[in-house]
Amino acid sequence: MSRVYNFSAGPSMLPEQVLKTAAAEMLEYGTSGQSVMEMSHRSKEYQSIIDAAERDLRDVMNIPDNYAVLFLQGGASTQFAMVPFNLMNKNKKADYIITGQWAKKAYKEAARYGAARAIASSEDKTFSYIPKITPDMIDPDADYVHICMNNTIYGTKWHELPECGNVPLVADISSCILSEPIDVTKFGVLYAGAQKNVAPAGLTIVIIRRDLIGNAMDITPTMLNYATHSENGSMFNTPPCYTIYIAGLVFKWIKELGGLEKMKEINENKAKILYDFLDSSKLFRGTVVAEDRSLMNVPFVTGDEELDAKFVKAAKEAGFVNIKGHRSVGGMRASIYNAMPTEGVVKLVEFMKKFEEENK
Ligand SMILES: *Cc1c(COP(=O)(O)O)cnc(C)c1O
Repeated sequence: MSRVYNFSAGPSMLPEQVLKTAAAEMLEYGTSGQSVMEMSHRSKEYQSIIDAAERDLRDVMNIPDNYAVLFLQGGASTQFAMVPFNLMNKNKKADYIITGQWAKKAYKEAARYGAARAIASSEDKTFSYIPKITPDMIDPDADYVHICMNNTIYGTKWHELPECGNVPLVADISSCILSEPIDVTKFGVLYAGAQKNVAPAGLTIVIIRRDLIGNAMDITPTMLNYATHSENGSMFNTPPCYTIYIAGLVFKWIKELGGLEKMKEINENKAKILYDFLDSSKLFRGTVVAEDRSLMNVPFVTGDEELDAKFVKAAKEAGFVNIKGHRSVGGMRASIYNAMPTEGVVKLVEFMKKFEEENK
């Protein structure tokens, strides 16, 4: 068996220890005589799996009791509609900050249901920075403010949150969830597709302040109403059982590792290895302004498209896969989520140095 270093933006690597546990439990979970894949979601065994997953997530992220944790389906993209359906309910308006394609998609979807307003954008410079937001830019009557916390495609991250006063802040944290501690109390809603940093695809995690549940628009489909899921313990219908089980193993892996403080330390060290090299290289350079750099997604270029393509191909042959940049940016992107070992980044940098030597 040989496993590659997978730098994909998602779905992405999972911790090897989690995969081994899942493999060992594949044919029989505990003494249940069956795989988690085959289990009724209404069984006692499964209830204890989903309960432990929620408990461990609350523990790891320090989620207070006045927030509900929901395990849903439909990906982060379904949240682009679910957020306005449930929150755009008082003044029917919301403020969006456009920091990339995902933020823009969220904004466009919300604009179908109410007065969504794009209050700032970094599109003028290919989303290579996070716009500065001052409190006067935010409508105090907005039902919420929406940001995309970590911009997966462009490699930027909000290191400081916008001041929103009493307006609830909603954040798409798909590509940075569990990468470092986050103060949940600063947000009305946090949501994330699981396939970047948590589990295989198929699960969406929503963390929502309970007072924001229960005021959905009349037209809201039952399945898109947060109340439907919070009132039924994420089991109004069949949940993505196996994906929740894997997520639970990942939460335990993070706990054993030392929690999110430790995760942050590892991630900062890992990202620094790559950024330091990019800053010193004569061939490669990062595309994002230094102060807004992401810990998770690192885009870079050589400045020559042919050389970029040559690098992507050579990297793949050397066991560094999915390092091609998003089609809208070009170049390369190394996604270095929690499960990417530091060793993978060290070896990638060694490989880049060698490539630079050979292509002077
Ligand atoms: C991947 C991603 C999405 C899309 O997620 P789906 O689960 O595929 O809908 C949305 N937002 C961000 C920030 C992402 O990284």
